[in-house]
Amino acid sequence: MKILKIDHLGLAVNSIDEGKSFWTDALGLVYEGSETVEEQKVTTAFFPVGESEVELLESTAPDGPIAKFMEKKGQGIHHVAFRVENIEEALEELKEKGIKLIDEKPRKGAGGAKIAFLHPKATNGVLVELCER
Ligand code: ZN
Repeated sequence: MKILKIDHLGLAVNSIDEGKSFWTDALGLVYEGSETVEEQKVTTAFFPVGESEVELLESTAPDGPIAKFMEKKGQGIHHVAFRVENIEEALEELKEKGIKLIDEKPRKGAGGAKIAFLHPKATNGVLVELCER
């Protein structure tokens, strides 16, 4: 498997509208607009930072994964995403190594990316996303 870079940091927020001003006004990052991924019940907004991005995540439904995360932990870092060259190959390799996966097969993420999450139990408590774009 080849990890190319940290693709983005996923940050859970109550509201992208309210949460984005810190990133744009205080840090001077550029807001690239938002996108809703219906199947994950989330709206995402990306702010490029050099080679990587900050991704704000706002739940669109009370039973969505981000809403459930925020019930337990509140706003804050939700996941770290690594860009890989070939996501199917990476998942296959991790499976062979006995790493617990949330997604055995890639699913559709924001911006047409293919994404998959690894289980936090296998990563010392960090939710890790792999993505291929
Ligand atoms: Zn992400």
